[in-house]
Amino acid sequence: MKLLQDKTVIITGGSRGIGKGIVEVFAQHGANVAFTYNSSSEAANALADEVSKQGVKAKAYQSDAADYEQAQQLAKDVLEDFGSIDVVINNAGITKDNLLMRMGEEDFDKVVEVNLKSVFNMTKAVMKPMLKQRKGSIINMSSVVGVKGNAGQTNYAASKAGIIGFTKSVALELGSRDIRCNAIAPGFIETEMTGKLDEATVASWRNAIPLKRGGTPEDIANACVFLASDLSSYVTGQTLHVDGGMLT
Ligand code: NAP
Repeated sequence: MKLLQDKTVIITGGSRGIGKGIVEVFAQHGANVAFTYNSSSEAANALADEVSKQGVKAKAYQSDAADYEQAQQLAKDVLEDFGSIDVVINNAGITKDNLLMRMGEEDFDKVVEVNLKSVFNMTKAVMKPMLKQRKGSIINMSSVVGVKGNAGQTNYAASKAGIIGFTKSVALELGSRDIRCNAIAPGFIETEMTGKLDEATVASWRNAIPLKRGGTPEDIANACVFLASDLSSYVTGQTLHVDGGMLT
């Protein structure tokens, strides 16, 4: 029996990077995967076709994580298409980096809407079905930056720190119904998001990490498998640091 056999999982931002890694690893563990994208429809549909070959159900949905109504519609569509929602991974995220001195209001609001409000949107959307089935696991993608802060990322750090407070509060509110809510704080994971950084910055980051390498989407996906599966049935309200020891 596979660890996530017959569980239906919603993954936001599954078309690229960490989300794509989660879609692939979850399918290998037997999960049926419903995942969203913002604009990469071709990549998302190709990924759904690819993972379907594992014998699981997989479908990509265009859905703006920042939009409350679209989250409600997504949950409805997934319930209709898949029959249940057992796990949600709020992974969609963006950066709009700048020093505070130069950061405009729009770039602050946009990052908070896509990264933090999205977590509220999806949690509200899946709460009812999870309460009804008296079981569920919600996993929110925070960041080492949300714990430690980072110059040039006040908007991003605020959104990721906000996720941790939200996660702990949901764990307290929904624990009695066996709905668990945890956060993951990835360190430096090599994806398109970090591909925007120059090579010297990347080299200095790698060198500062105790495990001496950047993480992979699979490293994060494996932590998600633990938090999604019954292996973590007594774990809630936690932030799991998957960062090669960066914060140690
Ligand atoms: P990425 O490669 O840039 O991928 C971002 C994903 O989010 C894409 O699938 C994108 O869809 C989707 N997305 C963006 N805006 C969206 C929206 N409004 N609605 C729905 N989906 C949207 O990023 P990543 O590096 O994999 O990061 C994934 C998560 O991990 C983010 O929350 C990020 O903050 C967090 N994280 C990353 C790192 C790192 O080092 N990479 C470290 C800590 C935390 P499209 O393809 O359609 O644009």
